This record gives sequence, structure tokens and C-alpha cells, in this order.
Amino acid sequence: MRHDSVLSTIGHTPLISLDRICGDRIPAKVYGKVESFNPGQSAKDRAALYMIEQAEKKGLIKPGATLIEATSGNTGFSIAMIAAVKGYKCILTLSDKAGPEKRALMTALGAKIVLCPKDAAPEHPDSYYSRAEELAATIPNSFYLRQNWNLDNSGAHYASTGPEIFNDTEGKVTHYVCCAGTGGTLSGTARYLKEQNPDVTIVGVDAYGSVLKKYWQTGIFDKNEIFSWKVEGLGKTIIPDNVAFDLIDEFIKVGDRAAALRVRELATREGMLLGYSSGAALEAVFAMRKQLTKDDVVVVLFPDHGSRYLGKVFNDDWMKEQGYLTPTGEPATYSVKHLQRMYRVYKRMYGRKIKQRLKLTSE
Ligand code: PMP
Repeated sequence: MRHDSVLSTIGHTPLISLDRICGDRIPAKVYGKVESFNPGQSAKDRAALYMIEQAEKKGLIKPGATLIEATSGNTGFSIAMIAAVKGYKCILTLSDKAGPEKRALMTALGAKIVLCPKDAAPEHPDSYYSRAEELAATIPNSFYLRQNWNLDNSGAHYASTGPEIFNDTEGKVTHYVCCAGTGGTLSGTARYLKEQNPDVTIVGVDAYGSVLKKYWQTGIFDKNEIFSWKVEGLGKTIIPDNVAFDLIDEFIKVGDRAAALRVRELATREGMLLGYSSGAALEAVFAMRKQLTKDDVVVVLFPDHGSRYLGKVFNDDWMKEQGYLTPTGEPATYSVKHLQRMYRVYKRMYGRKIKQRLKLTSE
């Protein structure tokens, strides 16, 4: 197939059956929507292209403009790619949670990077949001995409990801499972699917340490929920406008360890080298397996490619340092049986001491 530029290869990603990993363990039919097939190897190609082209149509981006964005990495890569094709400059403020592989990918495409501390609160002047605001205010002829608040982000997925999933399942999709970061991929697709069939169950995936699930449950933005986590791109410490909370039927939190082990299993069982958050998304399907039946058709969206995580989840030393693999390289899984045994051991050890102490204090 012939293309005018790399940009027209964005979208139309495949839906791939996950029989080898889900097969007898999940009662439903499960497909992965594999966004690493985009030229920028992530779902963010769709959002970046749509946000830029909508802004061009509105006259907000002029020739020679500088595009600015605060990003966990993938959006930055997509913007850098589009800027190269369209002749724009590109400056990205990036959390230092993004590994060196991700940074090199962006600079290779000509983008400039401003590295910001991952633990800076969003309102702190050093945070990647504040630095992007500052750059947008000081650089003439610049356009700050604001992926968290720019509704053209979810608009991209309403226009493409949603229709692709609906058509490729011949309208049979019953569950859509998707990570929430800015919320664009989840909400735009969900809106399209719910319009076609209001009974489609929308499942959001969130990180422990993120504020999204609690906000969805209670309407409260609870800063006490926040602590740092490892899965890049998943979860938020702000409430983005792109998360359509009213469309979400269920929100599942996934831990760093479970997501890491699951994405490694995807590689060895399905031959799919995918990003860390893809492991989180599939882990959510496993977490909800008891409510699925053989008639269900589950589509789980895999946001990006695994080559960006070779130094992390696909590196055994990194996995051991985190305690996700045992020193001998076995998955560090904590089964209920294991936890029950540990509980009995600790109770025996410390229960006796507590009893002794109680005795001493009562005497
Ligand atoms: N996973 C990865 C790897 C990402 O880069 C992103 C985007 N930040 C997401 C998940 C979440 O996608 P969205 O921003 O559309 O919610």
C-alpha cells in the first residue's frame, strides 16, 4: 500500500485473539486491540494527529509553530513524529519516570526535552505541567496541546478507535477494557461504543497511587490517595477533562507487580512485546474473570510497544530489584495460600509475644 507520508498509516490497528494466554483461564472470548501497530508504536499517534489537525483547522497552529506538551513519553513521540512531517518545532516536558529509551526516541525525531521530577505536585513550578505552561507563555507562535484538557484527544478515539473495534467485532463487543491516563483512549472509544450499544460494559483500569478511581466512586479528589507507582502512562494525580466518568461502569486498580508479570507472560505466551500498561490492562481482565461468560466478547486495549521497556519490565535485574522476581528468577506471586500460611506463622510468633506482654502489663 502506498502512502503520502507516515501520518496516513496511523490507525486501523489489528484486533488479535488472546487464546493462548486467556484460553482456558478466562471464560469469554478476549481480543487485544494492539496499538503498537501505529507508526509511533502507540495509541497516542491517533490523539496527537487529531489534536494537531483540529487546531490547524481552527487556525491555532501557524506555519513554523512550536508544539509544546507535557507527556509521559508516548504523546511526545507522536507529536515529534508529526512535527517532523509538518515542519513544526517541538518541545516536550517529560517526567523523569520515563526511561532513557523513551527520551532517546523523542530526541531522535528532533524534539527538545525538558526533564522534570516525577514526584513534583502538579501545581509545583518544577512539575512537567507547570514547565509546559511556562514555555507556552514565553515562546512566541507556540501551541500547547494540553492532552488532559483538550477534548480533541478523546475525539480522536471517538472518530477512529471506537468504530474500528465495533466493526472488527461485527458489533459483538460486550466489554471494553482500557487504561486511564488522560482518559482519551478510554472515553472517546467508550462514547462511540455506548452510542452503538448502551449495554457495552466499559471497564477503566487505574493504578494504585492514582486519584481517578476514588473520584469516580465518590466525586472527591483525594490527595491522600497519591503515592508514586511504576506503570507509565496509567493513572493520574489530577482530574483530566478527558476522563468521561459517567461512561465508566467499572474501575479496576492494578498493582505494579501484577502488571509487570502479566506483560512478560503476554510476550512469552502470545509472542507480543508490549508496554507495561498493556500488562495492567490484561491483568484487569483476569481480575474480572468471574463476571464473564462464554458469550462475552472482551476487547482489551494495549496502548504501546514493549521496546520502550527493555530496561525495565523486560530486564530481569530490574524485576528482581523491585521484588517482582525472586532472586532465582521465579515470578514473585503471593497466592492466597501463601498469605494464609504467612499469617499463621506471624500469628504464632507474635501472638505469643503479645499474650506475654498482656500478661506482664496485667500483673
Ligand atoms: N499507557 C501508556 C503507555 C500511555 O502512554 C498512555 C498515555 N499517557 C496510557 C496508557 C493512557 O492513555 P490515555 O492518556 O489515553 O488515557
